[in-house]
Amino acid sequence: ARVRVMELDEQPNVTFDQIGGLREEIEEVREAVEYPLTKPEIYKRIGVEPPKGILLYGPPGTGKTLIAKAVARQSRACFIRMSGSELVHKYIGEGAQLVRELFTLARERAPAIVFIDEIDAIGSMRTNDGTSGSAEVQRTLMQLLAEMDGFGNRGNIRIMAATNRIDMLDPALLRPGRFDRIIEIPLPDAEARIEILKIHSAKMTLSRKVDLAVVAELAGKTTGADLQAICREAGMMAIRRNADAVGQEDFIAAIRKVKREAPAPDARMY
Ligand code: ATP
Repeated sequence: ARVRVMELDEQPNVTFDQIGGLREEIEEVREAVEYPLTKPEIYKRIGVEPPKGILLYGPPGTGKTLIAKAVARQSRACFIRMSGSELVHKYIGEGAQLVRELFTLARERAPAIVFIDEIDAIGSMRTNDGTSGSAEVQRTLMQLLAEMDGFGNRGNIRIMAATNRIDMLDPALLRPGRFDRIIEIPLPDAEARIEILKIHSAKMTLSRKVDLAVVAELAGKTTGADLQAICREAGMMAIRRNADAVGQEDFIAAIRKVKREAPAPDARMY
């Protein structure tokens, strides 16, 4: 059962060129995560401590996991992912133990990048709602803080986390020495949407009439995950029409379908 809550990827297959937009964000993550692993002497020479934990926040489906995997690959580190919400909802009573095991695994497999997805599930502000889960969630959070405090900033284990509810996080998590580098991963703008559409349609046969800039414009407020779904749906539409290539009209129909199924992420959610 533990295998599922912790996902170990010895060599993630995501490269930076599979990520559309987010250039500055990627550079920031590389400075905080990759260079301390691959060029520790720079930090030593200049005499600064690299940040200990890196928190990525923004709407779901915008590429947080992709970035973490690409950075792990680039750093030749293994990638260990744990889902905060699965930890809390599926492994009741085991949270603190699993956090301990997560860090044991990371030490065994170092260099490693530990990625805690949906960290808000274990690191939300204390609510005092008296539910039976909350004391257990508190213990899980305390274990995570203790594990982080037990690390040097320069070790070959880097800790990343992601959330779309940064407003809900317990301030204890954001203190210096914890998740002290916070990077927003926003929705893609029109230009980034074109790049993402290109990435996800690269292997598709497109009609010459397809204009991805127009598709990106028509798609409007969407996530990378929505744009991936739009490409896939457009391909399905072309198959259904028995066409040789995917046409602009397929993309337009796909936008309608995907946007109906996944309403635009609400900016207030994070
Ligand atoms: P969540 O918070 O739901 O875990 P996330 O931000 O981690 O979301 P990812 O898992 O990285 O999102 O993205 C989901 C999928 O959407 C990716 O596997 C990828 O196919 C696509 N995607 C998202 N953002 C991008 C992007 N910037 N460029 C290319 N593809 C993207």
